[in-house]
Amino acid sequence: MMCTKCRRRKAVYLRSYSGEVLCRFCFKRSIEMKVKDTISKHKLLSRNDSILIAVSGGKDSLTLLKTLWRIESRIPSITLAALTIDEGSTEEYRVEGLKLSRKICEDLKIPHYVVSFKEYIGYTLKELWSKTQEKKLELLPCSYCGVLRRRIMNTFAKDHGFTKIATGHNLDDEVQTFIMNIMRGDYSKLFRFGASMETIPGFIPRIKPLRYVPEMEIAFYAFLEGFKLYEAECPYVRLSMRDEIRFMLNEFERKYPGVKFSIMSVMDKLNKQFSNLNKTYFKSCISCGEPTSRDKCRVCEIMDLIKT
Ligand code: SF4
Ligand code: ZN
Repeated sequence: MMCTKCRRRKAVYLRSYSGEVLCRFCFKRSIEMKVKDTISKHKLLSRNDSILIAVSGGKDSLTLLKTLWRIESRIPSITLAALTIDEGSTEEYRVEGLKLSRKICEDLKIPHYVVSFKEYIGYTLKELWSKTQEKKLELLPCSYCGVLRRRIMNTFAKDHGFTKIATGHNLDDEVQTFIMNIMRGDYSKLFRFGASMETIPGFIPRIKPLRYVPEMEIAFYAFLEGFKLYEAECPYVRLSMRDEIRFMLNEFERKYPGVKFSIMSVMDKLNKQFSNLNKTYFKSCISCGEPTSRDKCRVCEIMDLIKT
């Protein structure tokens, strides 16, 4: 079958939600255009921005790094650097992730930094998991791993003068988080979504240029780019509610192509209508002074639970 866009090359990808069949060239171009459109529509980049890219070494972050690098090469006033957070795991997913992150940053000549959980909070992720189990705390690894990861990114970016943090969240990640917040009844988080976060004192704005790209398409883009991907994943991933929601959403998407985009359009509308809530919800943590929507931030709460 021929590509429905260029009508010249052999199609290699069927985009079920739009009915297009695309050749390698048109497929890659469509992803890059989507990222560029997201950046310009949501004004994610400004002249003289210094962007810190969160790079785990997985397909999303490598795709983000490569697409931003392409865009940056046309806007020399923007600078890029990458940060990999090392949870202290000796498992293959982290060892390989670190290796790949280092290699691609070297190839693209992007400065690469690594910060570990151990140096930041004194524990590896595995040690935190043992502590929570010892104390019979109802905390799953992903819940504190995500919170700590965001804190480390923000602190590192502030300390090193970065103006934005770019993360590789894709369409699937965003929709899963939205559904999770509904299931947990977490009303306050429902309107904290967007390709970029509002400017809140103490927070380096976070941008998500891949927000409208489905996970499956990122995987195919990464394959076409020749990224050396690995099968191994974090051993805790299957414990999370996100994993079940991912499975459920993929089933729905298979039966009703485009369902993830439909949810995303509701999220965007809610975000637009209620974006003012973002501004009023933040104050300073009574313990560490970092911005938070509670009296005590989640990082301090978690560390108190673990230490007491
Ligand atoms: Fe952290 Fe969960 Fe990701 Fe593992 S799967 S690295 S625990 S967020
Ligand atoms: Zn705090």
